[in-house]
Amino acid sequence: MIHGVLIDLEGVLYVGGYPLPGAREALLSLRAAGIPVRFVTNSSRTTRGAIIDRLARMGLDVSIEHLFTPVVAARNYLAERKLTPHLLVHSNIRGEFADLLGSPPGAVLLGDAGSAFDYEALNQCFRLLLDGMPLLAMGSNRYFRDDGELSLDIGPFVAALEYAAELEAVVLGKPASDFFLAAVDSLELPPQDVIMIGDDAEMDVRGALAAGLRGVLVRTGKYRSGDEAKVEPHGGRVFDDLDAAVDYIL
Ligand SMILES: [Mg+2]
Repeated sequence: MIHGVLIDLEGVLYVGGYPLPGAREALLSLRAAGIPVRFVTNSSRTTRGAIIDRLARMGLDVSIEHLFTPVVAARNYLAERKLTPHLLVHSNIRGEFADLLGSPPGAVLLGDAGSAFDYEALNQCFRLLLDGMPLLAMGSNRYFRDDGELSLDIGPFVAALEYAAELEAVVLGKPASDFFLAAVDSLELPPQDVIMIGDDAEMDVRGALAAGLRGVLVRTGKYRSGDEAKVEPHGGRVFDDLDAAVDYIL
């Protein structure tokens, strides 16, 4: 039995500022059936508040404590270890770390910085990593769909720094098990009773399966033909969209 659901945002609930057909109704059906939902995104370009506002403008009603983002995970990770971050993040989220900044930094924190990923900024991070600082990455996604085209996400930049500095980043987002399990804990359910629905075969579905959850891939958003082969051999299911996935759950 499935008693709780985790849902990715971009590519599952909406694309490019518009809700996907049936998405709102699917959320209402879950609510009517009494199945609790948490939302898990790897977006590190905006704050949780901005994400909630954006969803509200699309008629998607999500409360802030039900939204799990790598920004929150990174804040918790830094605070628990009393680490001051060197930031290479989008300007939209710098303020989220203002109270944790200090000198000297104790960790390099990478977000999806967009056009701020320039040679000088990456070199600064590289040199700090050579000095022995850990690399914290708010996700490791390869690409995302942006205005109809696929664009580089944070993952290729994390990989470049890992390669150059010969280390492995700590990922504070999907597909890290801890990230899924934080959302599952808030449902007070065992992982095997919770299903993750996403459009990214690796980050969403394979990540959830590895954490002991069930996983569903939807053929919307960044889905590409052939992605079935990345999830079905591992026990993941595939449906056309959120509506069809929710029909299966109910
Ligand atoms: Mg997605």
